[in-house]
Amino acid sequence: MTIRPTTQQLIHTLDLNFMDLPGAIASYLIPHTGGAVLVECGPGSTLVNLTAHLKEFGLAPGDITDVLLTHIHLDHAGSAGWWAKQGARIHVHPVGAPHLANPEKLLASAERIYGENMHSLWGEFLPVPQAQIVVHQDQEPIEIEDLLFRPLDTPGHAYHHYAYIFAETCFSGDIGGIRLAGLRHLRLPMPPPEIDLELWRASVERLAQEQRRGAFTRIAPTHFGIYADAEWHLRALADLVQQTDAWVSRQMAADPSIEELNRQFIEWTEARSQQERLSQAECQVYETANPSWMSAAGIHRYWHKTRNAA
Ligand SMILES: [Zn+2]
Repeated sequence: MTIRPTTQQLIHTLDLNFMDLPGAIASYLIPHTGGAVLVECGPGSTLVNLTAHLKEFGLAPGDITDVLLTHIHLDHAGSAGWWAKQGARIHVHPVGAPHLANPEKLLASAERIYGENMHSLWGEFLPVPQAQIVVHQDQEPIEIEDLLFRPLDTPGHAYHHYAYIFAETCFSGDIGGIRLAGLRHLRLPMPPPEIDLELWRASVERLAQEQRRGAFTRIAPTHFGIYADAEWHLRALADLVQQTDAWVSRQMAADPSIEELNRQFIEWTEARSQQERLSQAECQVYETANPSWMSAAGIHRYWHKTRNAA
């Protein structure tokens, strides 16, 4: 898909074909007068696909001057160190920055979630040299050649999360939920250890305010693609956060184990999918981009460590 925000600036959606499934993880390519920017660079495991896409545009890895990360989870940022090695500056939320330079804690946390599948899922993660990390404050304009981005602090999925506004488009990372091409079905990615549904609700409201005052009309979640109906998307997202919050409060009142919660969460997700008439193949891509067991673990931890902490 190609979107033309202005006569000068084009956004290209690059499909990283994660785990051989099309439409799960995107990287967005925006050419400028001195090369090109990537919004999200995906994991190390999909670098070969990403560089092949660049070649189709006549670009070499060294033409990428800047990578903007919505947050540092491996499916969004895993290859950042490799891009830094090719010369790119890596733009990131101040809370995420230290983990790019010294990724030990980030990798240990991911290893607790993914175990022995770490490498096959995410590939290599190289640290980003301090000198190539660019940290921005909330709302601080990011000027790259003839491009202008504005970061919005949007916690809830992670504390280190920015959405970026650019040319009537909001790159919503994971705070904007997961929505696969051609569908009007949203899911929330809720991995441990930082999800917070109250912060999530406030971040969605912040994005909706920006949309209402005309800052953008399109929304581009990393999972996956650019949608022209940002208003509908944000309304559906606000509803989903609220429904999820109510569901979590109801289920957690009985103090289920992670295993029980996982079973209940899968049932609830399947019921929503049936209601919205998803096919089996569509459910599979949602599950690959955002496994239910991961969200169940995130919810369980959130309830005990944040929501119900003494
Ligand atoms: Zn994430």
